[in-house]
Amino acid sequence: MLFETIIEISYLIGTVLFVWGLRQLGSPDTARKGNMLATIGMSLGIVAVLIDPTITGDNNYLWIAGGIALGGIIGWLAAKKIQMTAMPQMVSVFNGLGGASAVVLSMVELMTVDLDMGGRTISLFALLIGSIAFTGSMLAYLKLDGKIWDSQVTWPKHNIINQVLLVVCIAFFVYLVVQTPSTGLIIAFLLLSLFYGWSFVAPIGGADMPVVISLLNSFTGLSAAAAGLIYGNNLMIVGGILVGASGTILTVLMCEAMNRSLFNVLIGGFSASGGGGKDESGQVAKSTNAIDSAILLNYSGSVMFVPGYGLAVAQAQKALKELDDVLESNGVDVKYAIHPVAGRMPGHMNVLLAEADVPYPKLLDLDDANAALPGTDVVVIVGANDVVNPAAEDDPSSSIYGMPVLKVWEAKHVIVMKRSMSPGYAGIQNQLFFHEKTKMFFGDAKDSIQTLLSEVKNL
Ligand code: NDP
Repeated sequence: MLFETIIEISYLIGTVLFVWGLRQLGSPDTARKGNMLATIGMSLGIVAVLIDPTITGDNNYLWIAGGIALGGIIGWLAAKKIQMTAMPQMVSVFNGLGGASAVVLSMVELMTVDLDMGGRTISLFALLIGSIAFTGSMLAYLKLDGKIWDSQVTWPKHNIINQVLLVVCIAFFVYLVVQTPSTGLIIAFLLLSLFYGWSFVAPIGGADMPVVISLLNSFTGLSAAAAGLIYGNNLMIVGGILVGASGTILTVLMCEAMNRSLFNVLIGGFSASGGGGKDESGQVAKSTNAIDSAILLNYSGSVMFVPGYGLAVAQAQKALKELDDVLESNGVDVKYAIHPVAGRMPGHMNVLLAEADVPYPKLLDLDDANAALPGTDVVVIVGANDVVNPAAEDDPSSSIYGMPVLKVWEAKHVIVMKRSMSPGYAGIQNQLFFHEKTKMFFGDAKDSIQTLLSEVKNL
């Protein structure tokens, strides 16, 4: 009895720590603490399960310890080694493995226990959603990492095939719930669900991939919650629901930031070739150098940095902060404009700048930045592209038309730091590079900022 009470209290504390940790993840200042709280909550849950005599019975602790050690070492090494630019890939793989765990649990249940209709419904649901999350996330990883291209995995009329597959999956699910399914039918359902997950993600590409990852993340949460129901484990149910709900909210927020509907994302509506810029042939982009840029920045009243994916690639955040410090000490007001989808995942820029100790109040969100831009002397775009593309405002034929962007052209001067004239993630042209106020500063962002910094120091 005492043991049972201790276990229930552990689950309760674990639940509170999950919710509290999630709350703390909302701000870069407290995110590290939030992560730690959630980790403690998860550890409590694992210990409670291990000491629960009604669950563990005659389990072999050596196997369990082996699994924890192996998974822990692989996860720790992967997280240690990963570059910030490859974060979406890692999130995708870890998410897929969460789905796979739910699949394994439900398979064990379906194959070894004589389930009633309710039990079958929950187990088959976890199997279906977990399988979609698993193969979908693995394909998302392969696409994001450039190992597979969209054209290699899409077929003609792919969206129609997907709709048919979805109907077949649902019909099969209902059939298995009302029948007592044979092992062969369960395996057939598993294979169909795995295939659907792959096919579901196949036509989605370009800038929509992070949205899909977030959606798959919410699927994994739902499958984990269903697995929690199978075992009557409250902590697992709460954890799964939190992941499912936050993944869904994130998906909706990202769609809003790109002004796209989820339906449009899911049918693979994004097409780099579907528009995007006018023919820029004949137009010449003006370039600048470190000395001229240093003079412009140092003798201006206000500067706004616009970080993008290229900042993450070049790992230029610390050099940028140094430049910020020197400019501020010379009396220049420095701010940062953060677009909600700058980079490759939500919060990407905030995390990088927090790592370089940029004070949080210096970061302006989209609306505040756009309000401040007309009064800004110089905008320095550091490896951003799509999030400052005027086509979103003035070219109805562009695939990003309608996406809220930073109106950097409203400032007095614009400097764009990037390596070449090549397009950003969305694969479309950017007329900003040919704008009368714009000067291109070519080179790797970190190198460019460092040379600029030494020129400012020499003034
Ligand atoms: P983009 O991908 O549009 O542009 C990044 C630019 O960085 C490129 O044009 C590239 O140009 C430049 N670059 C790359 N490496 C370097 C380097 N080492 N030094 C200097 N420049 C470099 O990035 P944005 O941040 O502007 O936009 C994000 C994109 O991701 C948008 O399309 C957005 O919709 C999408 N997205 C983001 C989501 C999110 O949650 N954050 C969600 C969904 C989509 P070059 O090669 O010439 O150097």
